Amino acid sequence: MEKKVVIIGGGVAGLSAGIYSRLNGFDTEIIEMHSITGGQCTAWKRKGYRFDYCLHWLVGTRKGPFNDIWKETNVLNDSVRIIDHEIHTKVFNSNGKEFIIYTNLNRWEKYLCELAPEDEAAIKKMCSDMRKSEFLSPYSDPPGLRNPFKAAASMLGMLPIMVLFMKYGKKSCKDYYGSFNFKNSDLKTFFDSMYGTRDFSALAFIMMFAWFNQKNAGYLVGGSLPMAERMTEKYLALGGKLSTRKRVKKILVENNISKGVALDDDTQVAADYVISAADGHNTLFNMLGGKYLTKKIKNAYDNWELFTPIVQVSFGINGIVPSDSPNELHMVPDCKIGRTKTTNGYSFMNYQFDPTMAPDGKSVIVMRFESPWELWNDMKPEEYENEKTKIEEDARALLLKHYPDLKDSIEVADVATPLTDVRYTGVWKGSYEGFLPSSKNLMDNIPPTLPGLKKFYMAGQWLFPGGGLPPAGQSGKWAIQYICKEEKKSFRTK
Ligand SMILES: Cc1cc2nc3c(=O)[nH]c(=O)nc-3n(C[C@H](O)[C@H](O)[C@H](O)COP(=O)(O)OP(=O)(O)OC[C@H]3O[C@@H](n4cnc5c(N)ncnc54)[C@H](O)[C@@H]3O)c2cc1C
Repeated sequence: MEKKVVIIGGGVAGLSAGIYSRLNGFDTEIIEMHSITGGQCTAWKRKGYRFDYCLHWLVGTRKGPFNDIWKETNVLNDSVRIIDHEIHTKVFNSNGKEFIIYTNLNRWEKYLCELAPEDEAAIKKMCSDMRKSEFLSPYSDPPGLRNPFKAAASMLGMLPIMVLFMKYGKKSCKDYYGSFNFKNSDLKTFFDSMYGTRDFSALAFIMMFAWFNQKNAGYLVGGSLPMAERMTEKYLALGGKLSTRKRVKKILVENNISKGVALDDDTQVAADYVISAADGHNTLFNMLGGKYLTKKIKNAYDNWELFTPIVQVSFGINGIVPSDSPNELHMVPDCKIGRTKTTNGYSFMNYQFDPTMAPDGKSVIVMRFESPWELWNDMKPEEYENEKTKIEEDARALLLKHYPDLKDSIEVADVATPLTDVRYTGVWKGSYEGFLPSSKNLMDNIPPTLPGLKKFYMAGQWLFPGGGLPPAGQSGKWAIQYICKEEKKSFRTK
């Protein structure tokens, strides 16, 4: 008899766990509360347009352990086209002045030096830090299961980045950029605006540029939904069971051993192992009733800053809007969209680079802005409808301010709020990537096991500050590696 693994949640972490579980011969069931898989890695269709929610960039499109995971889980295969944008974002300040973020570091360095020759030394130092962080090579195996020789070789290869870890591991972007004392006021303002007022880890920011420079963080044509569909196809083809529209309310525990799950309708599903790839807060505080918390977990959920939720207004446009940049960020901090003050600006993503998003001759432009959870938490249903209407009006006005020619071309407008994200995925406080990577927590991952609870693992974005798709995919794989170890099986990826 195969041992049974029940996985709560069919997002990227749950799908990854499901695939590796089947590859290793476990009887596997994913229980997902929504009608489709993918979790936050999703999109929705309106009048022939597809409005993508998640995928801007996927670390591991070219090489490394994340690349292995994407290949093993069918996220990447021979028919998936990857785009490495030359320009990451064009940032505009409130006077309309442009600042370009190139993905190629040499090109960006040259551009910055031309923009601010007086800061050449500082710019070169910053780009050199970014280049050095290319030595970062994420571990492919989880803590406790690493081959000591491989781990030592990997550490050796990462020596140049160790210096960066020591220097900047506990620094915020504010401190890091502040230390350069940029003389050019535009440069200073643009860097300040990119990370905003929060404590965003300098190292996380630096590493992001290294991924782009290596062309190892591309965009997959088709975007988020086809990505989740490819994973689901692989899971089902391997014989995995998928139960959708079923919500887990409790993890069943006997003598501190997890024994399965109870659903909202009170049916129970028995299991030899339970993996929760659902929202971290709900898993720990509700499904397990707050019984297995550690000091570290309590501290994280009480004190670590979260990603601010976002509002997404998607427009279906009858026409093509040419652009050389996939994303434009307008830093207009005192603008209001509905009730939200756009403290960290608002962006327009023009999907003309991905023709699968709209019928021929048409295109999709998506506006996104951060909107603090406190504005949404206690909103009454009627207020909510009015707020969505107001957001659509304000967003439309802003779109037309920047693209006046689109006046008669907007065929569809669709508003998704932080409450939409919570309704469909259960994500805590609408925090779409979990804990913000800060100067205090960047290297402080949350373990996937809980002391005192056997046969239970966690996976997903909440285990790693910074969240995102790669940790989600990797933590699903790691959970099965641990289970294989418990079962004394050698772990297989094929
Ligand atoms: C606008 C936006 C842009 C993003 N851009 C990027 C990007 O460019 N690159 C990147 O790497 N990441 C990006 N992310 C983040 C990324 O989408 C998430 O970090 C990742 O998808 C999280 O995966 P997960 O499986 O951990 O969690 P989720 O996707 O939250 O999946 C959890 C799943 O569990 C299910 N579930 C929850 N509770 C229950 C329950 N009680 N019973 C049954 N099922 C349950 C949910 O329905 C969901 O399917 C973005 C996210 C957003 C919203």
